[in-house]
Amino acid sequence: MMYDFLLQPEELAIRDKVRQFVKDEIPSQILREMDLSNIESGRWLVEKAGPRGILGLRFPFKYGGQAMNWVTDIAATEEAGVVGFAPSCAYVMPSIVGEALNLFGTEEQKKRYLAPTLKGELYSAEALTEPRGGSDFFGATTTAIKNGDFFVLNGEKRFVVGAQDSDWFLVYAKSDPDARPHDSISCFIVERSFGIEVQNIYHLLGARGGGTGRLLFKDVRVPRENLLGELHGAYAIFNKMMVPERLLPSAGIIGLARAALEVAARYSTRRKAFDKTINNFQAVSFMVADSVTLLDAARALCFSAARKADLGQDARRLVSEAKKFATDSSWRVINNAMQIMGGIGYTSIYPIERYLRDARLGMIWTGTNQIMSLLIQHEYYKELGKSQGLTRDVEGDALNSEQEEEKHYG
Ligand SMILES: Cc1cc2nc3c(=O)[nH]c(=O)nc-3n(C[C@H](O)[C@H](O)[C@H](O)COP(=O)(O)OP(=O)(O)OC[C@H]3O[C@@H](n4cnc5c(N)ncnc54)[C@H](O)[C@@H]3O)c2cc1C
Repeated sequence: MMYDFLLQPEELAIRDKVRQFVKDEIPSQILREMDLSNIESGRWLVEKAGPRGILGLRFPFKYGGQAMNWVTDIAATEEAGVVGFAPSCAYVMPSIVGEALNLFGTEEQKKRYLAPTLKGELYSAEALTEPRGGSDFFGATTTAIKNGDFFVLNGEKRFVVGAQDSDWFLVYAKSDPDARPHDSISCFIVERSFGIEVQNIYHLLGARGGGTGRLLFKDVRVPRENLLGELHGAYAIFNKMMVPERLLPSAGIIGLARAALEVAARYSTRRKAFDKTINNFQAVSFMVADSVTLLDAARALCFSAARKADLGQDARRLVSEAKKFATDSSWRVINNAMQIMGGIGYTSIYPIERYLRDARLGMIWTGTNQIMSLLIQHEYYKELGKSQGLTRDVEGDALNSEQEEEKHYG
């Protein structure tokens, strides 16, 4: 593969293990059943992947991880991405919710939840979004009120993948409604058996089969020991979670778009029009060229963000760029793939139409692409301020730069 040079041998070995798993262990029939919503759970996937040691690759061996880095995780996740959103979401969820447990959990919480989740024995989900809105995360209205040794949760969460049958949920709730928003939320590990009710499983355009639903918390009693991190301290968790939450789906959607392009490019070397295979028409082969370029650029951005996270540096801007660019680009690549296929691409004879339906979600979930733009410009302006005076004053290179009287700013 073209990007193998970006990986070390031990990173490649794990990537290849996941690639092999995806190639040999995931029957097409299950994917079809998920797309038809006859199956509404990705539990089967974690049950298969867990014993192979390919879930939560970044976490320590003692909890079932492989003590690897972000780069390995995104390379592996790209492979998982080729099977579509719902199954690849099941693949990455232990790596997402596991980040919170690994960084903020007590030893007891890690043993009780992280280890069995990485083994594929427990199925997990994350509940941030509420019916009142997902973008304004800190405006959450689900409450968690302390009562003796318990927190009592009341409220609703919406669009939770795995709502149908997850064993436990990472739930954010207002524990101090009077505090300023960033100091008001706590994070909890909530077992389904504590009393969470599923109110609705949605019919979706794509990403079907993941049991995406609305959850009701009505006086759900959560033991004190299931508070994750500091009381009212979910801001710190949320900040760290933005890396797995956004970087892993970016890698996953690159896998999906790569699959679409492979199908279309192969088709173009067999399908004939006007006595030539259609790859001989530049209108077609240039769509392939544009698509490959977009995918390589998206992957390069993901790898840069992952390397920055591996160095322990603040990767917020790069992660947001990766999420926005990978999802926008993959949408375009899959759209190109459909165009290359002509009419048959619009049918369910080939998987492109499913990829297109799945990919649309990429621009919406895990923070919309508008929210990514908000973060990118915010971080950029901050950096711009810091870099003032450190680099050449290029304004001075203009032909008439000395005409200060022409420089008006308001
Ligand atoms: C199939 C599916 C699966 C999902 N899985 C999960 C899950 O497992 N767990 C979970 O917690 N959530 C999940 N989500 C929720 C998802 O992350 C949210 O839908 C998303 O964050 C947007 O929130 P919203 O739908 O409430 O839209 P809103 O927040 O209401 O936004 C509506 C529009 O306003 C724009 N907007 C809002 N605020 C701003 C702003 N400040 N600047 C610019 N534009 C703005 C948005 O970009 C968007 O275009 C899932 C969603 C779907 C559809």
